[in-house]
Amino acid sequence: MNLPVMLRAENNPIYSDDQDMSTLHEAEVTILGAGPYGLSCASHLQNAGIEARVFGPTMSFWMRHMPQGMCLRSNWEASFIPDPSSAYTLDAFCAAMGNHCPKPIPLERFVAYGQWFAERAVRDHDPRQISLIQREGSGFRVTLEDGHSFLTRRVVVAAGIQPFENYPAEFKHLSRGLASHSSEHDDLSRFRGKRVTVIGGGQSAFESAALLRENGAEVEVICRQVSPNWVGVHPRLHHLGLVSRMLYAKTDVGPAGISRLVAAPRVFRRFPRWFKTPVAYRSIRPAVAGWLKPRLDGIPIRLGRHVAEARETGSQLTLKLDDGATQTSDHILFATGFKVDVARYRFLAPDILRQLEMHDGYPLLRAGLESSVAGLHFAGKPAAWSFGPILGFVSGAGFASRELLRKISKNRQAGPGGSAAR
Ligand SMILES: Cc1cc2nc3c(=O)[nH]c(=O)nc-3n(C[C@H](O)[C@H](O)[C@H](O)COP(=O)(O)OP(=O)(O)OC[C@H]3O[C@@H](n4cnc5c(N)ncnc54)[C@H](O)[C@@H]3O)c2cc1C
Repeated sequence: MNLPVMLRAENNPIYSDDQDMSTLHEAEVTILGAGPYGLSCASHLQNAGIEARVFGPTMSFWMRHMPQGMCLRSNWEASFIPDPSSAYTLDAFCAAMGNHCPKPIPLERFVAYGQWFAERAVRDHDPRQISLIQREGSGFRVTLEDGHSFLTRRVVVAAGIQPFENYPAEFKHLSRGLASHSSEHDDLSRFRGKRVTVIGGGQSAFESAALLRENGAEVEVICRQVSPNWVGVHPRLHHLGLVSRMLYAKTDVGPAGISRLVAAPRVFRRFPRWFKTPVAYRSIRPAVAGWLKPRLDGIPIRLGRHVAEARETGSQLTLKLDDGATQTSDHILFATGFKVDVARYRFLAPDILRQLEMHDGYPLLRAGLESSVAGLHFAGKPAAWSFGPILGFVSGAGFASRELLRKISKNRQAGPGGSAAR
């Protein structure tokens, strides 16, 4: 299928005469996002001879929205960004760098790995942000942050979870200087000498608490759970050869047994919802890596409690807990996770959102990660409602890439009638 020739400056108000349009031609597939999913999908499509252009800064969520000093919770094998020939694994990266990579994997090392992967496994990468995606003809018009625009047959949204921060509504009245979400910080040293209350019961809450203390803050954690869910505290279970392989998939998502089930997203998708929902929750409930335990020694952790009320008193906060206890704090840090709602992707035009079938903020996807808007695909966490929890982790990127490739190759073989417009 040939797309109509790109709109020219004279009939497109976003162009000025001096803009160079020569570099912007219509694209077959446009991938929005250069995190692990966008990069992996691009490498698979390009390797198969499909023209795929990637937009956005490389690994920016990991660089700007996670704290320096953090380590990945996912294990080594589950932290590879998949490429079709498995040439660009973490092992290959470490070998190329000539150095040993510690475990757990430090954030900065993973970011460097992503950049190394992007340089080698992906062509046609443009760091500009996409500001708008609209329906046009049987494809889409993509507009970049600088106003340039072009037509594309398909769009793969691999934009991650950053706009989905779950900031508790009851605390929205607090000034942002006194309260923030964990994803707003890449450097926790700004809290040196401050008293910080961390809210949450997962990895992000506990690791932030450890990092805050190591950065000279006085820190306390308040967590609704009566006991944290520790993971990786029975390492022997992972070293039983065949038995371990039967219990745990390499994708490293979910507990023994369930791990295998959720590692097969095409199968998982076919199960009834009453089965999928609890299994998915069990796989991604708030949990904390066992290796953090020693770093939490001496940090007060109030289990089974929550903040019932927070008031600003001058430059501080007075917090009232559900048991009536009160305390003061300089800052409250919500490590309360993310809640997918693709309507919060500001680049999706209203006409697309109107046509998008969704459930609870997730797009409903069919084979090829394709949404109800033909030619519009979602990779990463937004695909988790349809394909299961591994889509929220780096280890799901291999499945996403293969699934996308299968769909696009099949439609190409079907010829013009098998295009995105179907
Ligand atoms: C604190 C924390 C720790 C985590 N630890 C792990 C872990 O150990 N292991 C694991 O597997 N997962 C972990 N995760 C989950 C992690 O977010 C996902 O695995 C991973 O980011 C998924 O990759 P992605 O490509 O879908 O998203 P991202 O890595 O978020 O990439 C999305 C990219 O899209 C780009 N983008 C967004 N909007 C636009 C636009 N309009 N135009 C162009 N580009 C755009 C962004 O710049 C970003 O680079 C963690 C998450 C958090 C918050």
